Amino acid sequence: MSFTLLSESTPKARKSHVCDWCGELIEKSTTYYRYSGNNSGDFQCTKMHLECRDAMDRDIKDYDSWDYEFIPRDNPRGKTIAEKDNEQYQKTRHV
Ligand SMILES: [Zn+2]
Repeated sequence: MSFTLLSESTPKARKSHVCDWCGELIEKSTTYYRYSGNNSGDFQCTKMHLECRDAMDRDIKDYDSWDYEFIPRDNPRGKTIAEKDNEQYQKTRHV
């Protein structure tokens, strides 16, 4: 596995997109984060909410490299899966 980042930007959506992190809609005319790169020979373009990009950054820190992968559209919006699990754990403790 190797990933080479080719470009990244934060454009304003001209039409709605689906966030590759959480699977929710990126509404038209909102600012979102997109990056494209070469993933082991395949061109890849990823779009996500700005808060989901922050969540991904926090998740990547635990991996410390671009070999990092996430399951597309299967993450909580603006959070990492670990953060969400931790939240649910906190909730059950306080009940
Ligand atoms: Zn999202």
